Amino acid sequence: MSQCYDVVVVGGGPAGSSCARLCAEQGLSVCLVEEHGTAGVPVQCAGLLSMNAFRECEVSNRCILSTVRGARVVSSLGPELEFDAGNPKAHVVDRAVLDQEMLWRAAKAGADIRMKTSYLTRKGDCIITRGADGRCEIPFRILVAADGARSRVARIEKMPRPKVFLAGLQADILYDMDQSKVEIHPDASPEFFGWAIPLGPGRARVGLAGRSDVKGRFTRFLGMFGKETRSAQVHLVSGTIPLGTRSRTFGNHVLFIGDAAGMAKPTSGGGVYTGVRAARHAARVIGEALSENDSGDTSLSEYQKAWKNDFGRELDLGMQLFRIRQGISPADMSRVITVLGDPAILEDIVMLGDMDRPGKLIRRLLMRPSLFHLLGILIKTEVCRIYKE
Ligand SMILES: Cc1cc2nc3c(=O)[nH]c(=O)nc-3n(C[C@H](O)[C@H](O)[C@H](O)COP(=O)(O)OP(=O)(O)OC[C@H]3O[C@@H](n4cnc5c(N)ncnc54)[C@H](O)[C@@H]3O)c2cc1C
Repeated sequence: MSQCYDVVVVGGGPAGSSCARLCAEQGLSVCLVEEHGTAGVPVQCAGLLSMNAFRECEVSNRCILSTVRGARVVSSLGPELEFDAGNPKAHVVDRAVLDQEMLWRAAKAGADIRMKTSYLTRKGDCIITRGADGRCEIPFRILVAADGARSRVARIEKMPRPKVFLAGLQADILYDMDQSKVEIHPDASPEFFGWAIPLGPGRARVGLAGRSDVKGRFTRFLGMFGKETRSAQVHLVSGTIPLGTRSRTFGNHVLFIGDAAGMAKPTSGGGVYTGVRAARHAARVIGEALSENDSGDTSLSEYQKAWKNDFGRELDLGMQLFRIRQGISPADMSRVITVLGDPAILEDIVMLGDMDRPGKLIRRLLMRPSLFHLLGILIKTEVCRIYKE
């Protein structure tokens, strides 16, 4: 049996590495176990991070592949919407490089990092792992589950599940696109959307996420980008996106952060921003709990209050929009895109648009008389959905 750590973190993604670093920086003893031999590999991400999300990761510019200023939304029926904010809105990053730098920083802060070490189960206040050092028991005072969308820790702890799991498929391909904008293709995947992200001249990252027929849709979507995409998919990625947070994200001396808590944003599928924000709240609550020598549920419940105060309402709003999205047909989507193309509305989008916190923009748009018609479409689809259920 190894020493008893103040904090054991399962998972070396952005959420786990941030939490391990922030705990170690408070002088706590920290061990992080990661099942793979290299952090961030295999990559399961498009790598699109708002400027804020990128700042939250606290890394150098080494992982940045390109920077975008706007977006182009393309309906399969013709209408398009395009805007350019005139200043950088998001970085496209190499997630392997980002994750590795974040893990290095955790190690530098003093966390013990054990790679190729998988969490298997829990025995009292120890986790049992299997890996490079064989089978180990690692005692902890507080355990942090940062083990991603299919969290084994959550299964062992019998936590309530996230509401929805989307499957994502993506490839890096040879394709020349506007380097300043991401493309959104809502009709490529009717429950969510497809995307094309510039990776530098002549290269793009093309993918989609959805609930059904994801492989078929992906093949058809790739076909839109030219014949050569079939023979030159240089990097193929598949992964799961959990939406709708677990109703409980703490308990029994464990905190759940990032995808392990179901914190990906239902409007975009992005989970790095919320994961790293949650890691900050978790590290603060852990520091306070351990200094009081109290890691009981009442003390740890402060973590859930903190992340809910921070971005819980945004995730709830996102989940409502996701539900409405389920009922929007390509014809309705093309009407939505046309209405949003109004220059005054585009100005709102540029001024208030925030990938991580869409609430402000949505509230503003709902006040615009020219959008009452759009509201009608959305209410109609929501009523139809409720009626069908
Ligand atoms: C196709 C696709 C595209 C995406 N695009 C974006 C995007 O553009 N922007 C964005 O912000 N987000 C995006 N996401 C979501 C994003 O990848 C996740 O939200 C983010 O990685 C969550 O970070 P995390 O640290 O919580 O979990 P992860 O990054 O999943 O890290 C979990 C870690 O835990 C490890 N682990 C798992 N089980 C065990 C175990 N039993 N023992 C030890 N270690 C274990 C894993 O190996 C992994 O390293 C995308 C997801 C997909 C699938």
